[in-house]
Amino acid sequence: MAPLALLSTSDKTGLVDLARSLVEEFGFDLVSSGGTAKTLQEAGLTVTKVADYTGSPEILGGRVKTLHPRIHGGILARRNLEGDLQDLADNEIRPIDLVVVNLYPFAQTIAKPDVSLEEAIENIDIGGPTLLRASAKNYAHLTVLCDPTDYDAYLTELRQQGGKASAEFRKERAIKAFAHTGGYDRAITAYLTGQQEELLPPEFSLSGEKRQTMRYGENPHQSAAWYQTGTGKEGWSGATQLQGKELSYNNLVDLEAAREIITEFTDKPAVAILKHTNPCGLAVADTLLEAYEKALAADSVSAFGGIVALNKPLDGATAQELKKMFLECVVAPGCEPEAEEILHKKSKLRVLVLPDLMQGPPVKIKGIAGGFLLQESDRTISTPDRWQVVTEKQPTPEQLEELFFAWKVVKHVKSNAIVVTKNQTTCGVGAGQMNRVGAAQIALEQAGEKARGAILGSDAFFPFDDTVRKAAAAGIEAIVQPGGSVRDKDSIAAANELGVVMVFTGMRHFLH
Ligand code: 5GP
Repeated sequence: MAPLALLSTSDKTGLVDLARSLVEEFGFDLVSSGGTAKTLQEAGLTVTKVADYTGSPEILGGRVKTLHPRIHGGILARRNLEGDLQDLADNEIRPIDLVVVNLYPFAQTIAKPDVSLEEAIENIDIGGPTLLRASAKNYAHLTVLCDPTDYDAYLTELRQQGGKASAEFRKERAIKAFAHTGGYDRAITAYLTGQQEELLPPEFSLSGEKRQTMRYGENPHQSAAWYQTGTGKEGWSGATQLQGKELSYNNLVDLEAAREIITEFTDKPAVAILKHTNPCGLAVADTLLEAYEKALAADSVSAFGGIVALNKPLDGATAQELKKMFLECVVAPGCEPEAEEILHKKSKLRVLVLPDLMQGPPVKIKGIAGGFLLQESDRTISTPDRWQVVTEKQPTPEQLEELFFAWKVVKHVKSNAIVVTKNQTTCGVGAGQMNRVGAAQIALEQAGEKARGAILGSDAFFPFDDTVRKAAAAGIEAIVQPGGSVRDKDSIAAANELGVVMVFTGMRHFLH
């Protein structure tokens, strides 16, 4: 008997080409719901309407189309079970070999500005998820496709496997189908409970598709995997790795931190070198090469094995310098052929091109016992025009520029965070300390003599005046911090007493 395919799709992309190959190359018979059948017939293909196949018309304005034992029996029957086969025979049901379904566009519907509840509810697909789940459950015996981008792969699979998809292929697509219906139901739940509001944009689904099983997680005894939430073209999923070893879990964590910090610098060339998500060197300059040299000189000891992010396409001169250092990864929005050629010899170095560095995730996720926390990504920064100078001494334009540089950097350093900067270059970074004055101590010690005439930035307010006093003693000229402590007046008094400029940004940037 000819193989049988059931096609029922809202998004008709690629449908006709798939159906034509199924019929002409592999001799499939086709069964389709109303709209899908119409599309296929208009393309000159022979197709049986579900209603004709089942003898039951589509009813309730389409709410019931494929929900019928002749369809679901044909999907769910175990082809190796005598009883199931007998049931099929007794009820004149043909086994179905392929199910192609994509769902009513619920997310697109609720994204429309004035969508009514009724319209949203009508766009909750019922038969589609049922088809997908039934087919995915019985993947041992049939194939399910829920994504038009898989059609070609399926046809290739049939060609290579002699007309039947391999078990591995079927299982992969079954997992994808469950992920798809899972995400779909969560979108409905979120909509109905009003929780998709400002946190999760409707097109963002918390269910992802596995992109890569990592060799391990943060440590070798932890397993890990990389999931993509979009179409596979967004963010790191769409980045091009020009060379180097496979990306590890830690690489991606660091790369994301590197991407985030470098997006603060959109104007002049900027280079950030990161270790364990913290910048150990970051600099802005007239050329990329100069920015890299300054960033590296900031802390060349820590830069060993670092992650480098550049805000401009990598050029040959910079690549030549990069080559001299052991680095884990380099990411830039582009890579000139000359640079590519130079780095090619360092075959283990991972070089990534991420054309749109600015495209970040809308939310951050953290697992906790019994659930997970979701928060909006920290994508805002207060600019100097909104700052308040709280000391008698006013900042010079140059100091203001440097303060903004320090503020952009410290936003991306693990809390408690203090940075010391000079000449648009970090010279001391105190990251992840349990008290603020301790973070300042580390940053100032690292800066050493360079702290004289430098700027200090703090990610959150000073609870006491001790950090101001330490900074002044080291020669810091100006301080940027959010303000907002009950003891702000102590810090301001200390700054006035010691002749240090201090500005409040009014915005805190904890990063844990
Ligand atoms: P068509 O354009 O072929 O008329 O409809 C295709 C869409 O209907 C697909 O998105 C599919 O998921 C959905 N669908 C298939 N069967 C049913 C059903 O029994 N009830 C509902 N509500 N939707 C169905």
